[in-house]
Amino acid sequence: MTVSEPRRDRRSTGGRPRVVVLGTGGTIASSADSATQLHDYRVTAGVEDMFTAIPELHALADLRAVNLLQLDSHAIDSAALLTIARRVAKELADPEVDGLIVTHGTDTLEETAYFLNLVLKSTKPVVVVGAMRPASALSADGPLNLYNAVRVALAPAAHGKGVLVVMNDRLFAARDVAKAHTTAVEAFEAAEEGCLGRIACGGIHLFHAPLRLHTAATSFSLDRLAELPMADIIFDHQGAGIHHYHAAIDAGARGIVLAATGNGSLSPSARLGAELAARAGVAFVRSSRVGRGIVTPSFDDETLGMVAAGSLNPQKARILLMLALTQSHELHHLRSCFERY
Ligand code: ASP
Repeated sequence: MTVSEPRRDRRSTGGRPRVVVLGTGGTIASSADSATQLHDYRVTAGVEDMFTAIPELHALADLRAVNLLQLDSHAIDSAALLTIARRVAKELADPEVDGLIVTHGTDTLEETAYFLNLVLKSTKPVVVVGAMRPASALSADGPLNLYNAVRVALAPAAHGKGVLVVMNDRLFAARDVAKAHTTAVEAFEAAEEGCLGRIACGGIHLFHAPLRLHTAATSFSLDRLAELPMADIIFDHQGAGIHHYHAAIDAGARGIVLAATGNGSLSPSARLGAELAARAGVAFVRSSRVGRGIVTPSFDDETLGMVAAGSLNPQKARILLMLALTQSHELHHLRSCFERY
């Protein structure tokens, strides 16, 4: 489906669509000491500064800036995640708001986007956007990323597609996207599912729609979420020890996600760790460190009470596991969540 015209909700009344841009920090809001310095920068800009840098934005919609956080995204914790989600939900509930953009650091952008995808009860477009180069850089990518994000939020086809991520002229489903390169402008990809669409030469071209449950169709609600349960990720490797599993369980983790080798294979310690978790009533999800492909159910899941993560990478599996655990620890419930979301 190709959508070349932004949606104009108020066209019939001569009004303009209203878009909220909610800032959380990150490279897109950062500056360095010179235009050629592309690392070691600081978060300095507010959303209004971005508006000033991109005057073309104001031709698209009536924009409202919300400076919520000024964090590097590797500093975002569960409390900050809930703060972001609650404020996004509040803004979307305003009938005057037609769409919302979250500007965010790229390091953990996929986790926030997926969390929002699972808890927001709205079909209004929400687009999460970042930048790989600071705003002060030569060929900074943030301005066009933000401009494209607003255009996507105004596209009729963006409605009901779940939370979207726009980076480097591509449009991704929050569930599928991951940061796959440490520095490249084309850092984001959806290795297994592919991107949802592309922004090219002024057109917004959508190729397909997400199939898994999201936003208004999910059973997760922010209303009953005072806090998120603790869930840890443990990276498996040759010669892995058992101590990480003891530490996670002793620290109060309610869930463990294994970044396993291959198709969710268990090292001897990971197997012992799964047994420890089962005895302690701690949920155990097998994801993979591989980064592409699907972790499929295995016979071990039955004997050790584990959950296969499917195509969710470890950090995404952790987001879903935390939300699933707010509803029940039952194994069939957890498995159902990983099959449906
Ligand atoms: N460290 C930055 C962050 O995640 C990287 C970025 O935004 O690109 O906040």
